[in-house]
Amino acid sequence: MLIFIFNKLLKRVNQLLIRGKTFMADSNTPFTFELNEEQSAIRQTVRSFAENNIRPNVLKFDEAQEHPAEIFRELGEMGFLGILVPEENGGSGLGYVEYAIVVEELAKVDPSVALSVAAHNGLGTNHINLFGNKEQKAKYLPDLAQGIKLAAWGLTEPASGSDAAAMQTTAVKEGGYYILNGTKNFITNGGVGKTAVVMAVTDKQKGKKGISAFILEKGWVGFSVGKKENKLGMRASETVQLIFENCKVPAENLIGLEGEGLTQALKILEGGRISIAALSLGLAEGCLEAALNYSQQRKQFGKQLAEFQAIQFKLADIATGVDAARLLTFNAAVKKDKGEKIAREASMAKLFASEVATKAANEAVQILGGYGFVKDYPVEKFYRDVKLLTIGEGTSEVQRMLIAKNMLAG
Ligand SMILES: Cc1cc2nc3c(=O)[nH]c(=O)nc-3n(C[C@H](O)[C@H](O)[C@H](O)COP(=O)(O)OP(=O)(O)OC[C@H]3O[C@@H](n4cnc5c(N)ncnc54)[C@H](O)[C@@H]3O)c2cc1C
Repeated sequence: MLIFIFNKLLKRVNQLLIRGKTFMADSNTPFTFELNEEQSAIRQTVRSFAENNIRPNVLKFDEAQEHPAEIFRELGEMGFLGILVPEENGGSGLGYVEYAIVVEELAKVDPSVALSVAAHNGLGTNHINLFGNKEQKAKYLPDLAQGIKLAAWGLTEPASGSDAAAMQTTAVKEGGYYILNGTKNFITNGGVGKTAVVMAVTDKQKGKKGISAFILEKGWVGFSVGKKENKLGMRASETVQLIFENCKVPAENLIGLEGEGLTQALKILEGGRISIAALSLGLAEGCLEAALNYSQQRKQFGKQLAEFQAIQFKLADIATGVDAARLLTFNAAVKKDKGEKIAREASMAKLFASEVATKAANEAVQILGGYGFVKDYPVEKFYRDVKLLTIGEGTSEVQRMLIAKNMLAG
């Protein structure tokens, strides 16, 4: 049995190692949950990929504001676009700990790549993975899990964000189809994604229980991509409107039962918060690394910046925040993998890690002074990217509402 497990592990590690690259053992990442061999290999693989394949192009991707298709093709080949999908549906069959590791390592180098990876894995693909029936999983998951197609997930609308239940997109049943009308706003991978999970109102009278989820395919009549957002940050992650004008969706593409859509979506967001927490953690680590390096090189008044106590305190505060964010993030991931309830833990991790990342980006720019304000150093981009993290997948205010609701209910 042991030999079997070891061989399986070796096979997996070999699958994950990028051709021809060797990896340094990681001694700098403090981590209180011990990683197993497979998880360590995943961390090293993603780290090496991000350093070699993404870092040299980060500014190019940012300035072009284009989805980096080649990077996603490679991530798909490595199995990182089907992280949570079981092997029987073409995925890697891994858990939230591995998922968080992947997102964290990508975010250290390019948060916008991490955001599109998170939206694909944790939102669109995972909705079908968790709530789709056998036929839907067999039809859609293999292509998504291998990155042949990307997934988008549409909950937000022009007039409904935090109050998702106030959505106006409708789905009216006519024979064997639902006819969708409405607009979804700020949808990650909405243009490049070929498959979308979309929530729509099937029965207005039933309020929250009158919302249903559907799988849509790009190219269907009445399904088009609207405005592409020109963003402050996360610019290599595509954000667009999705427009439905009498779009005919086959009834077999309803996910679960009519009326289950919002409950499903909230469950998806709960897991999604782990990925935004991991993204925040990675971004904060990227800031710390850049600030630490710079402060040991730059001299003023005949001393390294790192010798000034004011700078040391900033570095100490960022490092403390990073370690605390790591604890909350992986606590939520470990519990999720154990099948425990994580509403409180996921919200706390997302809230705390995103606010740590915001402070880290702000202080990192300050430590670099004028050089933090220009694009020659990575902190300028971190400072722009980070703002999304206290907004997307539930704002900081919404997370506080959820944590309080959870406490008061208990
Ligand atoms: C780059 C990007 C990518 C995104 N990707 C996706 C995606 O793939 N799919 C998707 O469905 N959505 C996506 N979103 C949407 C995102 O989830 C929403 O922007 C977010 O949920 C907030 O909604 P809103 O922007 O409408 O803000 P609003 O809900 O209008 O909130 C505005 C402000 O009011 C506060 N507020 C609202 N209600 C309350 C309250 N009751 N008490 C106190 N304060 C409150 C909020 O916290 C916020 O500060 C994305 C957004 C961005 C910017």
